Amino acid sequence: MKIVEALNLTKSYEMGGETVNAIQDVDFVINSGAFVSFVGPSGSGKSTLLNMIGCLDKPSKGSLKVDGVDISTLNRQQAAKFRGETIGFIFQDFNLIPVLTVAENIEYPLLMVQNWPTNERQQRVKTLMEAVGIGDQANKFPHQLSGGQKQRVAVARALASKAKLILADEPTANLDHDTAFRIIDLMKAMRNEFDTTFIFSTHDTKIMDSAESLFTLEDGKLSQKIQGGQVR
Ligand code: ADP
Ligand code: ADP
Repeated sequence: MKIVEALNLTKSYEMGGETVNAIQDVDFVINSGAFVSFVGPSGSGKSTLLNMIGCLDKPSKGSLKVDGVDISTLNRQQAAKFRGETIGFIFQDFNLIPVLTVAENIEYPLLMVQNWPTNERQQRVKTLMEAVGIGDQANKFPHQLSGGQKQRVAVARALASKAKLILADEPTANLDHDTAFRIIDLMKAMRNEFDTTFIFSTHDTKIMDSAESLFTLEDGKLSQKIQGGQVR
């Protein structure tokens, strides 16, 4: 099963009368269950690409299918619904809600986006907190956690509503080296345990070795370096 299919995908921005191709005519396929990294320096187009896959931004040209749906045909409302049902997000600055506890942050999408029944919600939150290793932090607030713990909460939140695809834009950028590797390993373990797909971006060439499938981005152009763990 293919979870993402891009064909001749281009995203351009108009900047002071000039057209900048942030993503230029790229083709790729990502299979369900993959653990994929987009690697490239700042400005190479990683966020632009993830934002399109996440239905936060529309392609300028070409086609982009996510879970079989051509997302360039969706209007704003349909895109929001599709996003809520299909995709989970992890951010470099964690984006936790400061006035909610750990458990409430993880529960939030189940309550606000998907309206799960109370007992199922509570069970899901408990399962996820244990899976990501923060079972004893349920009633803490984000400011009481370390960076690594905050990112664990964010991973649990992204998994909460059983998203088929999780997008993580520079998830390790605000973590120290060892913590960064632990978060990548956690994401990989969660991919196995919860049967989902992870795509993460990074500018850190040390981190990229942890990916099973690797694409590099340079000036909006994409090339595949590793597929299924083998360098080609
Ligand atoms: P990365 O995530 O790899 O740092 P980005 O996707 O943020 O790269 O940016 C890729 C290119 O597109 C850069 O040249 C950037 O300046 C440009 N760009 C990104 N977003 C916009 C925007 N909203 N308007 C104009 N240019 C943009
Ligand atoms: P338009 O067709 O003029 O873009 P929409 O209401 O469809 O109007 O979208 C408004 C904005 O919402 C878009 O510019 C885009 O940023 C975002 N958006 C809407 N649909 C999608 C989609 N399918 N994927 C990504 N972003 C979308």
